[in-house]
Amino acid sequence: MQSLLDSSKYFKLVCGAGNEDAEEVKRLTVLYVLAGAKGLDISANVNVVNACMEGIDLAFNFSKEFDIPLSIRPFIMVSVGMPGDHHVRKSYINLDTCLKCDLCIPVCPTDAIPKELIVIKDKCIGCGNCSAICPKSDIIHYEHNNRELASLLPACLAAGAEQIELHAAVADDTAIMQEWQLVSEVNPNGHISMCLDRLHLSNFSFEERVRKAKEIAGDRLIIQSDGYPMSGGEDDFNTTLQAIATADVLNKAFNMKLRKSKNVLIYKKKNEVNQLLSGGTNSLTAVLADQTGVKFQGSSLGTFARKIVKEVVDDENFYQDLALIKKGYLIAQDLVIANIGKPTL
Ligand code: SF4
Ligand code: SF4
Repeated sequence: MQSLLDSSKYFKLVCGAGNEDAEEVKRLTVLYVLAGAKGLDISANVNVVNACMEGIDLAFNFSKEFDIPLSIRPFIMVSVGMPGDHHVRKSYINLDTCLKCDLCIPVCPTDAIPKELIVIKDKCIGCGNCSAICPKSDIIHYEHNNRELASLLPACLAAGAEQIELHAAVADDTAIMQEWQLVSEVNPNGHISMCLDRLHLSNFSFEERVRKAKEIAGDRLIIQSDGYPMSGGEDDFNTTLQAIATADVLNKAFNMKLRKSKNVLIYKKKNEVNQLLSGGTNSLTAVLADQTGVKFQGSSLGTFARKIVKEVVDDENFYQDLALIKKGYLIAQDLVIANIGKPTL
């Protein structure tokens, strides 16, 4: 894992912390493992971990058909989150006050809102698109998807996960560090990731939280710098801008140092903090990072990565049609290469 990060060759597919649709996770896993992803970020749910493991096995089987020399088995990361973090909330529609205008149905990226308007919890990823378009502000509300981490996380690790991510984009520092300590103790030898954005944190608070996270995790720390959470639907520079900007804040605080003779910041030989880009990542993320001189150790792609293969994933002949799987993994492969160059297989 560390050598993938050190060589900036880590591509993580984000299936969604709140995505408990095991079949969808399995199919996404097949396509993106064939495409060269080395990380799969999934909900902390044993059924979903099992589905992801099956997807990896299937991808290795299919790789022989397609003559892809896969050798590294990708890492499974399970995601959990603090109450208030967008990634782990579920949407509820109040049918008594709902205007039945149906505006929310087409904007849901996971088809979690059927025509009956009762949100399918397993599919809801908490993105907020539905409440953003709803004409009234008091019809849709969100509830935290409560989980008993102390028992759930060991069960996920026993099922095959090797890494844990904590979505910690809320203001309460003390509560977060308690959860982070627990995450670290549950997985003492594997990498652990904290996903942070700046919706509630100033740059200074962001840096402070990274510092505290590093004190507990040491070199196992990954920070997922989440530009604008779950906003990566479009493939343009503006969508990915905040991911790069957030990464730049982290680099300047941890991974760069002042060259006094020229009074300029330069990158340290060894990164102090492993950093993944997320939150608006798309096929232009690495281009913008390169143009702005922002280095990163890997890319995490969710909304955009899922969107470009949705038609293939939803096809009822998915497992039987090799041409369909090839079409899907080639679409995914273009995205992987756009982010990390030719992947290490
Ligand atoms: S639009 Fe987003 S928050 Fe609303 S139901 Fe769909 S996934 Fe959940
Ligand atoms: S957009 Fe709001 S009012 Fe319209 S159907 Fe959806 S929840 Fe009901």
